[in-house]
Amino acid sequence: MSGIPERLQAVENAIVAACAEARRPAAAVRLLAVSKTFGADAVLAAAAAGQRAFGENYVQEGVDKIQALKDHDLEWHFIGPIQSNKTRPIAEHFDWVHAVEREKIAVRLSEQRPPALGPLNVCVQVNISGETSKSGVTPDEVESLAEAVARLPNLRLRGLMAIPEPADDFAAQRAPFAAMRELFERLREKFGPDFDTLSMGMSADMRAAILEGATIVRVGSAIFGARTYNK
Ligand SMILES: *Cc1c(COP(=O)(O)O)cnc(C)c1O
Repeated sequence: MSGIPERLQAVENAIVAACAEARRPAAAVRLLAVSKTFGADAVLAAAAAGQRAFGENYVQEGVDKIQALKDHDLEWHFIGPIQSNKTRPIAEHFDWVHAVEREKIAVRLSEQRPPALGPLNVCVQVNISGETSKSGVTPDEVESLAEAVARLPNLRLRGLMAIPEPADDFAAQRAPFAAMRELFERLREKFGPDFDTLSMGMSADMRAAILEGATIVRVGSAIFGARTYNK
């Protein structure tokens, strides 16, 4: 897995630089290494270089890696869309879920979470770019879904997640992240200090996301290389 430690270091350096530019402490942003489509060997190469948190989009692929690497004390985030018939393996194996967009899914995750594992950390996905994306709740619907998540016993509401429409222009990247920050800050007054996570920014737009307050950036190809899908 040549190149992974070097690319991971470059991403970490870019996070530190963006934090400095934003006058935020470097520790304010966590890197989630998105390992979807890459094997356990790639995850191990990143883990050996100090990376702890990994993101997966496909349930079976993620569970296979979690089981193969269970002795390595890693933290696993499910970041893909969730089908209601796939909630159980997510609840039983992952530490975080980023893309909750329906109360029914949240209820199932809570019911199926083994209490011995402690609460599952949950972010509500917001459709911040409007018509162009189908995933996530509208900004108007976020508060009521967040309230529903916060009431569930085996979930811990942590914040918001978004995947804005891709844009090359920096100002165009920044605008939806700024809207997310506003929404996040308003809801934090209601949900309190546990509501501490703004999951936004990927390989191509992580600097814009950090300048607008991201606390987790989800970065795949900049660490692991280009993906080839066989799904
Ligand atoms: C694949 C994926 C990422 C990482 O994307 P890159 O462009 O490879 O950094 C981040 N978030 C989600 C939800 C993804 O599906």
